[in-house]
Amino acid sequence: MPEFSVPELLELDRRHVWHPYGPMPGRQEPLVVESASGVRLKLADGSGELVDGMSSWWSAIHGYNHPVLNEAARGQLGRMSHVMFGGLTHEPAVRLAKLLVDMSPEGLEHVFLADSGSVSVEVAVKMCLQYWRSLGRPGKRRLLTWRGGYHGDTWQPMSVCDPEGGMHELWSGLLPRQLFADPPPAEYDETYAGHLRALVARHADELAAVIVEPVVQGAGGMRFHSPAYLRVLREACDAHDVLLVFDEIATGFGRTGALFAAEHAAVTPDVMCVGKALTGGYLTMAATLCTARVADGISRGEVPVLAHGPTFMGNPLAAAVACASVELLLGQDWLAEVKRIEAGLRDGLAAAAGLPGVRDVRVLGAIGVVQLDHAVDMKAATRAAVREGVWLRPFRDLVYTMPPYVTGDADVARIARAVCAAAREG
Ligand code: PLP
Repeated sequence: MPEFSVPELLELDRRHVWHPYGPMPGRQEPLVVESASGVRLKLADGSGELVDGMSSWWSAIHGYNHPVLNEAARGQLGRMSHVMFGGLTHEPAVRLAKLLVDMSPEGLEHVFLADSGSVSVEVAVKMCLQYWRSLGRPGKRRLLTWRGGYHGDTWQPMSVCDPEGGMHELWSGLLPRQLFADPPPAEYDETYAGHLRALVARHADELAAVIVEPVVQGAGGMRFHSPAYLRVLREACDAHDVLLVFDEIATGFGRTGALFAAEHAAVTPDVMCVGKALTGGYLTMAATLCTARVADGISRGEVPVLAHGPTFMGNPLAAAVACASVELLLGQDWLAEVKRIEAGLRDGLAAAAGLPGVRDVRVLGAIGVVQLDHAVDMKAATRAAVREGVWLRPFRDLVYTMPPYVTGDADVARIARAVCAAAREG
């Protein structure tokens, strides 16, 4: 293997490697990370370490290079790194399914182990459409969602992302045509709730499901809303024979101060997607859970199987690390850690409220958001955060953080200072 200098790496990266939402050849200069441990990313150019304010997009809740997760990966690697899931099964996958069922809202009983968040949403949509076909109602095939959402980059998820000004505008004429309600207000509003009820009632004959990110709309705008809307949706869906899907890919595993955001409303969806923090950010794996009603409905159909089966379904290595990550989370007072970070972010981000150009500052669980009244200058904002020794990824009009739960108080304060600096200079 040739060893590359940092400038060589950057040049090869620019020439050959696509980055998320990136052009080719690349235009941005990504930072080269040499290693990561705890909450710190070590840079390859020798300039030092950055405290990770992003948990690698919500996933690394326990931080990096964690001895328990390392051991789970090593142990499993010595036994079996992968084996096909058709006709075969294994302990890591079965154990993970049981852990997920036990910790999820009551009534979710069946688990499809997908290989990414987007795929788990594809599977959720297929489950819902197939359910209604099986019941002899194939006309129920549209989805209702909130504007301003984000559910992934594959076809069905793109169709329920923000349709205007969103990341997938390019495809708007080609994607399945779904139904959209305005994003929910932060506080409960009866007029808006009535609007949601009316939309579900009016379109019930064509609606397979309502799909939403509960409590926090993430990548589409980092908006928070009252959990009471989830109850409104549950009641409307029950009253009009529509399935309810919660996309907990970002919110799951404690991030909002509940294991799953659905718990804030004491609501069980018919289908729930999880991913990101499932493996503690180590390996790509997600899951789609559903109730017995959904699974039984599919089983009664002309084609009584769920027609989906990726090559890496149930990957033992990812499943073993996921089991370790979930057990690590549940074996500690995770809520105390999330609340501690919430308090630190509230304290530290209070200073942002008075800055010119800042429209809103909001904190929920281990999520802190500063919203600007203008599009952020990503380069300037990132540079300001790096100067404070922190890794952030501002976008649109947002500077935000969702740190690993193991981030100590001094580092939480440092992250908050970096968010303020990025908001000031971006
Ligand atoms: N759903 C939500 C709520 C997300 O935040 C994301 C990713 O950001 C996805 C789905 C897609 O997950 P993945 O990037 O693993 O495909």
